[in-house]
Amino acid sequence: MTHALELAAVSKAFDGRMALDCAEFAARWGEVHALLGENGAGKSTLMTIACGLYAPDGGDLVIDGQQCTLRGPADAAARGIGMVHQHFKLVPAFTVLENVRLTCARRFRGQPAGALRKALVELAAKADLPVHPSARVAELSIAERQRVEILRTLLLGARILILDEPTAVLTDQEAESLLRTARGLAAQGACVVLISHKLNEVKAHADRVTVMRAGRTVARDLDARSLDVPALARLMVGEALPPPPRHVAHVGAVAFSVADLRVARADGAPAVNGLSFDVRAGEIYGLAGVGGNGQTELAEAVCGLLPVAAGRIRLAGSDVAGRAPARLRRAGLRAIPADRYRRALAADLDVAENYALTGLGSGRFGPALWASHRAMTRMAEQAVAAFDVRGAAPSTPARLLSGGNAQKLVLARELDSDCALIVAHSPTRGLDVRACADVHERLRQARDRGTAVLLISEDLDEILALADRIGVISRGRLTGEFAPPFARADIGHAMVGHA
Ligand code: ADP
Ligand code: MG
Repeated sequence: MTHALELAAVSKAFDGRMALDCAEFAARWGEVHALLGENGAGKSTLMTIACGLYAPDGGDLVIDGQQCTLRGPADAAARGIGMVHQHFKLVPAFTVLENVRLTCARRFRGQPAGALRKALVELAAKADLPVHPSARVAELSIAERQRVEILRTLLLGARILILDEPTAVLTDQEAESLLRTARGLAAQGACVVLISHKLNEVKAHADRVTVMRAGRTVARDLDARSLDVPALARLMVGEALPPPPRHVAHVGAVAFSVADLRVARADGAPAVNGLSFDVRAGEIYGLAGVGGNGQTELAEAVCGLLPVAAGRIRLAGSDVAGRAPARLRRAGLRAIPADRYRRALAADLDVAENYALTGLGSGRFGPALWASHRAMTRMAEQAVAAFDVRGAAPSTPARLLSGGNAQKLVLARELDSDCALIVAHSPTRGLDVRACADVHERLRQARDRGTAVLLISEDLDEILALADRIGVISRGRLTGEFAPPFARADIGHAMVGHA
């Protein structure tokens, strides 16, 4: 039988790290095929190859029985493949129709004016994806924007429609309606690839399931009806590893706590919905969860970058909710943000300046407005040596550092002796194995010196390797809290909302 889409032995490395290692995938016409896996498993990368955006390092791509080498997304579209990415690619200032025209103009060339609008309106009705062609995208909800993305992908002629975690940004009702549309498209003969990490959703709406873990396909083309959710969870997160040697934590008093914390996203939607937990001195508290469940808003609220809508944040005995970042810093808060180049470092400043950046008010480098460059250089040199930041002279611009070395520079600056709480968000994302191990060791050392560490990570392996206690966040709430020995499958369940 001819598959709609087949990927065989596909490999892809980024900066020498294997994101895909001989991954396999095959989906038929007329089915909703779920591609399931934890964050970082390689799902998006595999499908980004299928839609012609990335070239694979090796392996075969077969579309409707024909082996192909795609020259780009336009080539993929011509063969009927379209992908709706997690991050939408719409122009907010344009209307719905203008956005659709941006991608579909060529396909509708030579047709009478109004043909595109007519096609859009008809398809929207047929696929049950209601949109207003003249509405400005900036004013649309996330769900409406997603509909525009799907419609324009379909108008481009997609018969193999890849949806990358489409429900991650939707409410339950919106998700339900979208998945019905996906089923409807499959019933009309299309092949819908549904990337997801939600077991219930996959079980309820997919015909077949392929599971990926760490760049490999661990189960291929299973029948969704025959699956049981716990077995699927085990496939997705892997079997429990032998526990690493655990240090005996010399845990002190509660150094940091949040109580019934509520934080809204920048666009006003609730992101943290009544979260409570505490972190003790000398403890690494791992907050596990699938990305987009309120982690970023939590980290930003704790660091004084987003307003607290309700609830309390206590650090070293004081209420600190709503305090400005500089005051939080004086109270002992240090941060390793998820986006190190944008949030932690000033890319165009040099290593010495970046090292001094957050300490200018401390007087260590002389008066704040008259800081001594010589002192900055000297201290940065020492820090660079102590934290083994490679390829970095004090005068090197931060943007030239590799990911691992940039992160070591951030650690060197943040893990100072006045650090009472360190908030580390995805501290090893994108780093190679060696740099990962270095960062982990630094965090352990800080913990052993009595610092409270809040480790927020989407990488469950990282959490299991480091945490003394684990909380799980889902939809902005704590859905589980675990003490060692950790049961990986239970944590995995709490992460996908089965607690
Ligand atoms: P998933 O979609 O399953 O969450 P991804 O395909 O996004 O996983 O990522 C797989 C791995 O590849 C991860 O380790 C990720 O960090 C890495 N990766 C993905 N895209 C890039 C990129 N453009 N540059 C470097 N690393 C990447
Ligand atoms: Mg992804």
